[in-house]
Amino acid sequence: MNDDTKLNKCNSTRAVHDGALRVKAYNSLIDPIVQNATYTFADTNDLREYMDRTLLGIDDSRIEYGRNGNPTVRAAEKRIASLEGADDCALFGSGMAAITTLLLAFLGAEQHLIVTEESYRRSHQLCVDVFRRFGVTCSVVPVGNYQALEEAIRPETKMIFSESPTNPYLRCIDLERFSDIAKRNNILSVIDSTFATPLNLQPLKYGVDLVVHSGSKYLAGHNDILAGALCGREYLVGIVRQLLGTVGSILAPEQASLLIRGLKTLGLRVSRHNENGQSVAKFLEAHSKVDRVWYPGLRSHPDYQIANQQMMGCGGVVSFEVKGGGDAAGKIVDAVRIPYIAPSLGGVESLIEQPAIMSYYDLEPEERSELGIKDNLVRLAVGIEDSVDLINDLGQALDKV
Ligand SMILES: *Cc1c(COP(=O)(O)O)cnc(C)c1O
Repeated sequence: MNDDTKLNKCNSTRAVHDGALRVKAYNSLIDPIVQNATYTFADTNDLREYMDRTLLGIDDSRIEYGRNGNPTVRAAEKRIASLEGADDCALFGSGMAAITTLLLAFLGAEQHLIVTEESYRRSHQLCVDVFRRFGVTCSVVPVGNYQALEEAIRPETKMIFSESPTNPYLRCIDLERFSDIAKRNNILSVIDSTFATPLNLQPLKYGVDLVVHSGSKYLAGHNDILAGALCGREYLVGIVRQLLGTVGSILAPEQASLLIRGLKTLGLRVSRHNENGQSVAKFLEAHSKVDRVWYPGLRSHPDYQIANQQMMGCGGVVSFEVKGGGDAAGKIVDAVRIPYIAPSLGGVESLIEQPAIMSYYDLEPEERSELGIKDNLVRLAVGIEDSVDLINDLGQALDKV
């Protein structure tokens, strides 16, 4: 294959080019959308030869059925693998499809999993509630307590799973310590790196085994598709890819094409998200109506130091606690004119929400506070607008409370 993945290139160049064949079908410049369910064989001998090759191992030269692969999806996978510094990447229909298939691949009855306390609500439900029905137990440990993490390990523990940065307080994991604990105990370490993007953090460099992304966020970047990615060594990704063909949690070719289109501007977008995140966080921290800002690019954040060492930038999500409680927070959310009220992050449009009445609304107030979700917490996911406009907008909204 004529791809230049091995050349020493910087991130933006990789984001535009890697994984693409230099000469594509019909001499098309962009990767064509191969909208196709099944693939043909010239004759019985052609089929027999293909079957013989697949018996010997993976045949990367062709595909026989759409659930087992697609050239457009493959091009997106190769680009993300290159950005993440991974041997291989597998794509899925959503971030949750990636996490579900990953857990199904490595966990079974009477096995045990450890997750960190602050996580995407659906991931938490999946690990703690759904897999319990199949005999998988799960321990939840606080972020940043490596002793608790190590003490939670049992003989049947197979995996430790954490986000970094986490949602919504942007806690950052010391990835060297995290992967070291996994290695010493012979268990898999997995990082959900959605909030970081491969341009700000490359967990595999620190010895982490597998990285997952919700491609619906920064990777695609335009709030127009759902996708999920899993990156790591070929052998480990291969185990999950096998199951992907069985479970069918695949990404469709049109979505892969939109993902590739989004990836081409990842370098530009992420630097703008980083700049905007930092400026907005500083502004909010200095504001008299804000109690506390959670952004790892600020010295006041508990993980400032580790973020500074591990990350190139801290991204676009800024969480802050408003003086005056949940109602005051709601007033600010309602008064901003640029960010839309919506879940999600990592797209070009700024989005704003109160986690207490978005992802955690179904819980009783005590359950929410047990999970650390305060009523006055606002999560702002800054887009790629001009920071001066975002700051002016937040300023006028804060003046209204
Ligand atoms: C959004 C998100 C997910 C889930 O991804 P979907 O693509 O929405 O299924 C998982 N983890 C994190 C950290 C996320 O932000």
